[in-house]
Amino acid sequence: MNNHLDDLRRILTEPAGPHLDDEKLAEMVTAELSGEDVDVLYTPETAHLGRCPDCAAAYEELASLSFTAVAGMAAAAYAMTPQQAFMTLLQPELAEPAANLSQVIAALPLLFAEPPTTPEEFEAVLAHTTWAQSVPDVATTVLRHLAALTAYLTSTAAAVWGRAVDVQTAVLPQGHQLQLQPAPGTAVPVLSSAETGDEWHLLSRSVGHPVAWHVSMRAARRSATGCALMVHVDRPGLADADGRQVTIAYGGREETAVTDANGTATFPLVPIAALPTLQVTIDTLPEQPGQQQR
Ligand SMILES: [Zn+2]
Repeated sequence: MNNHLDDLRRILTEPAGPHLDDEKLAEMVTAELSGEDVDVLYTPETAHLGRCPDCAAAYEELASLSFTAVAGMAAAAYAMTPQQAFMTLLQPELAEPAANLSQVIAALPLLFAEPPTTPEEFEAVLAHTTWAQSVPDVATTVLRHLAALTAYLTSTAAAVWGRAVDVQTAVLPQGHQLQLQPAPGTAVPVLSSAETGDEWHLLSRSVGHPVAWHVSMRAARRSATGCALMVHVDRPGLADADGRQVTIAYGGREETAVTDANGTATFPLVPIAALPTLQVTIDTLPEQPGQQQR
């Protein structure tokens, strides 16, 4: 109570002081973004913010804009490098580069669990997708650069392997859905990143109420660009771990696997590049009599 009275007395007796100019606000936001203790570094300014709604609003707006920009740049740096290099190579050869060229190029690593070594392999993979039909000239150009495509696929997979992923979960009528996305804020390369092993523990997570399911996902590297993906699904007191459908979606396609007696569904070959953006759907409906043959 005494503190409140003191505050009130100070507000009434002390002038609010001059307003903080844009330069000072920017300086304080920068300090806050780099983890400094703004209250200590900028004591009089912070006191002014406490008494002046106008400056407080301006500070808050600038701070939230800056936080968004920094998070965005971290995400961009995460996704950019190999893709940017491949685009720089292709662009001069494209008569009229598609407006969505970066998305078109970004979709490529999701299509190839293994780099195609011949034009036939390249076309065989694309035949199962709508990718080439939408951008025939890009497909022709990529075909002329299979070696560069291999480098692009390999470096994209290397950039992705072992990185942190964020997970959003949703409860569906038939079960649970997990949407993976690259975690922001990991733009700074880790020194030991060249030594990532052949096993990547992607996530371990409880989903749903009142009885939570436990979902864990693990990838085992099979090559520079492909891996096996194991999705383990469990729940306290679960009697029948097997026979549960798990579906993964990436790059416009879906694959389904069924859990074994240990509750693990295995996808033998998935593009590593697809892992951070996978959508995983787990059928957790209780087994109904007569539904066994699904
Ligand atoms: Zn002010």
